[in-house]
Amino acid sequence: MIHYSNYINGQFVESPHSNTITVINPATSAAISTIPNSSPEQVEAAIAAAEAAQPAWAALPAVARGKHLHVLADKIREYIEPLARVITEEQGKILGLARVEVNFTADYLDYMAEWGRRIEGEIIESDRPKENIFLYHKPIGVVAGILPWNFPFFLIARKLAPALITGNAIVLKPSEETPNNAFEFCKILAQTDIPAGLVNLISGYGATAGRVLTESPKVGMISFTGSVDTGSRIMATAAQNITRVNLELGGKAPAIVTANADIDLAATAIQASRVINSGQVCNCAERIYVQRSVADAFTAKLVEKMQAARFGNPLQDETVDYGPMINKAGFDKIVSLLARAVDDGAQILCGGQRGADESGYYFEPTVVGACTQQMDIVTQEIFGPVIPVVIFDEIEEAIAMANDTEYGLTSSVFSNDINEAMNLVEALKFGETYINREHFEAMQGYHAGWRKSGIGGADGKHGLYEFMQTQVVYLQRS
Ligand code: NAD
Repeated sequence: MIHYSNYINGQFVESPHSNTITVINPATSAAISTIPNSSPEQVEAAIAAAEAAQPAWAALPAVARGKHLHVLADKIREYIEPLARVITEEQGKILGLARVEVNFTADYLDYMAEWGRRIEGEIIESDRPKENIFLYHKPIGVVAGILPWNFPFFLIARKLAPALITGNAIVLKPSEETPNNAFEFCKILAQTDIPAGLVNLISGYGATAGRVLTESPKVGMISFTGSVDTGSRIMATAAQNITRVNLELGGKAPAIVTANADIDLAATAIQASRVINSGQVCNCAERIYVQRSVADAFTAKLVEKMQAARFGNPLQDETVDYGPMINKAGFDKIVSLLARAVDDGAQILCGGQRGADESGYYFEPTVVGACTQQMDIVTQEIFGPVIPVVIFDEIEEAIAMANDTEYGLTSSVFSNDINEAMNLVEALKFGETYINREHFEAMQGYHAGWRKSGIGGADGKHGLYEFMQTQVVYLQRS
């Protein structure tokens, strides 16, 4: 079994094998690696290395920083297959999706590198004679990137690429569920000329290693992706030092299917969105509102398509559509939400059971009918291949139910009536709305949640500028 070491100041630092966390393949429950359960001292060493490396990096022209990111992107492309296998082995997504994740990560590094020549300040008109006012965007210093397990490799780039191109250094903490790909990332990074200390990786639990990162006065920004509960805890800790937080949290995306929708397209898109990564995706359809006149036809199609989805061990069978749940807690949450929904009058239209292979936590593709807005399954994040369906009569009802949520990440509308679709877009209170499609967001967009789905956002120009702070210079000429 492989044992990984923290990557600090350009070195893999041996740590005691006695204080480790064992990583599990969720498809088989087999142990696959051990990783350091990092001590506060190790986390502090990573922060110190980042702090020391950052000024020289910030002094480079941004285009030179970008060249390093392009080299890293190309190196990653040399390892697509082994990286995809590492991701699949520890996370459980199918190999095809893991390959997409690795490719997208390399493309994302290239995309952010291209901003090197496009970061711009402002010249502001002054009230005073002979005065110039300049607004600069400057690096923050040390960024902490705290990662979830569902797209663990891509999330490295989503934190690291904007941090580095804008002149910051970074300390990454992967999820304890899926750290192996991050260590493999550092092995690739170590083959490039990216200066030592600029990128550091420490593993461990959130409440210990993660907490040390969020408590440190030397960390200027915490970029976190994960659950609302953890985001809230991180924000409370960050408040001690008024540390900037950028939080990408959970979602409960509504999909509204109106009488004017292409029913087949809607069912196909929503099915794909519900089974991809076993339904463990923050921006995929989590609840459906379908108009009564098309409800039977749509639901029948959706059930047929969900029933066609095949699941299993993704390393053994490349033809499956999805793999296991990440762990028992994720599986138990689905079982409990379903049981409560049935108690409250919902009907399971297909699926509803654990898969036969009990070596992992597999769950059948499931459609739940006769749901109401009051049910927990309609209001709480399910994060599995399970979709509740609610019927509405008037569009206004659908809008009210869709917006009736503490989340506000993504939403979708299925309608071929452009007026209806755009009226819905205007009424929906979500950071993203997809029309006649589901996932994913684009790297040049801006992925940002409303309400408890987050603060700030990622991607594109707006995401990039969050990794910088401003300095306004007033120049008085004589
Ligand atoms: P999680 O909140 O359990 O853990 C995320 C990370 O936070 C892990 O690395 C964990 O070790 C760390 N952590 C936990 N407690 C901490 C603390 N007190 N201080 C510092 N770090 C701490 O989330 P998860 O289960 O890994 O991910 C699933 C969640 O992430 C879902 O809710 C999903 O919707 C959300 N998600 C959101 C987006 C988005 O872009 N909005 C993307 C992917 C996942």
